[in-house]
Amino acid sequence: MEYELVIQGGTLVSRERVEKMDLAVQGGKIAAIAPRLSGKMTYSASGMLVIPGGVDPHVHIDMATPTTRTSDDWSSGTLAAAFGGTTTVIDFIEPEGGEPLMQAYEKRRAEADGLAMIDYSLHMTISRSDPDNLAQIPEVVEAGMTSFKLYTTYEGLALPDEGLIASFEAVRQAGGLVLVHCENDAIIQASIRRLSEAGKLHPSNYPDSRPPIAEIEAIRRVIALTRFIGVPLYVVHISTGTGASAVERARKHGQVVYGETCPQYLLLNEQVYRNPDGLEAVKYICAPPIRQQKDNKIIWELLKSGGIQTIGTDHCPFNVIGQKDSGKENFRKSLGCVPGIEPRLALMYTYGVRAGNITMEQWVSACCTAPAEIFGLAPQKGVLAVGSDADIVIFDPEKKVTLTKALLHERVDYTPYENMQLTGYPHAAFLRGRLLVEDGRLVNPQPDGRFLKRQRHQIPTARMTDEY
Ligand SMILES: [Zn+2]
Repeated sequence: MEYELVIQGGTLVSRERVEKMDLAVQGGKIAAIAPRLSGKMTYSASGMLVIPGGVDPHVHIDMATPTTRTSDDWSSGTLAAAFGGTTTVIDFIEPEGGEPLMQAYEKRRAEADGLAMIDYSLHMTISRSDPDNLAQIPEVVEAGMTSFKLYTTYEGLALPDEGLIASFEAVRQAGGLVLVHCENDAIIQASIRRLSEAGKLHPSNYPDSRPPIAEIEAIRRVIALTRFIGVPLYVVHISTGTGASAVERARKHGQVVYGETCPQYLLLNEQVYRNPDGLEAVKYICAPPIRQQKDNKIIWELLKSGGIQTIGTDHCPFNVIGQKDSGKENFRKSLGCVPGIEPRLALMYTYGVRAGNITMEQWVSACCTAPAEIFGLAPQKGVLAVGSDADIVIFDPEKKVTLTKALLHERVDYTPYENMQLTGYPHAAFLRGRLLVEDGRLVNPQPDGRFLKRQRHQIPTARMTDEY
């Protein structure tokens, strides 16, 4: 049979294996994976890795804050993702005040549709645990959003334990999964008070305002609460080695819990803040803060051992000039978060695979397959399999690149990874069988990103009350 398109001569990398195979595309789907396929059109991938399009499970594109918005809109943010080899993102819906959840969903769709260059889905934020709000969860699941984000910190978002428990129960009954931002708010408030009294609000002191113990306490508590309720848990952006170890430990004791970390928690350390120039230090303000090298090391080890599962970016871009600079003398006035939607795959290849921290298969798992599976997008996304969407990334494992702001397409005036040396970079990305970007060039400028409905979480979760 002659297929529409055959990607020839590449090395296919999946979570299970690395092998030389051709891959055929028909009608936007992967139609065959075998040696020596023939097609009306061919794309040479010789010398290249062929991987599933990246799935970034944690991004904030065009996100409103009380005073501003993140600097990427859906067009620039998703295009940057595509250039970096990511073809699916999961962003967030953040209902305002008492806004009905589905109304907030419609608004978010209206912002993204027609601009998104890649496929996307949305997590729903639950910041109110009153019965009226929680009663809306089943219809959100029905609409294809099966994951719910909760916070243990931030005024207006954080829920106390009672609210967390009520929300976890509602999500459990609807067949969903909870994502939790874990940092103990009381510890943060006390830390900020201490720093404030000591006159230490310069951005270089920022990490001390959200100490490791804030994250560790909240991760352990949320693990206990979700264990008690019996709802699958996904801990977002883990920054501490001890926090990541808590996830591993709960998994070993039979709990359905997943851990996500981000490139900033693997590749950067606290030194980035220790800069008398506030304008430099604010670049790295994100919550939780960037930690120490010992944390980097433990988190790498847990990615390798399977103790934690995914790499998201928490991409949340604010320009230094005009946005983040409000905090250059006082970190309390700065906007949190760092950008990173574009260099995720490349950073993880050089500093993960090439550096020997993880295998090529684990790289694909953490950046593509595991996020798709956990959030109910597989096998449509995140895998190279017959019948899956033909979201395919051609990755040049030998290309040498110096990462700079100028190279990237993120609409923000800096990258936290400036001047990092990379060997290995995405060469091209196909979205549902169509070449979208190649060699730093936009091939298909027509926004074709679609909203993805997701499946319910499949792994049965038990209520557990044992100590371990
Ligand atoms: Zn986030």
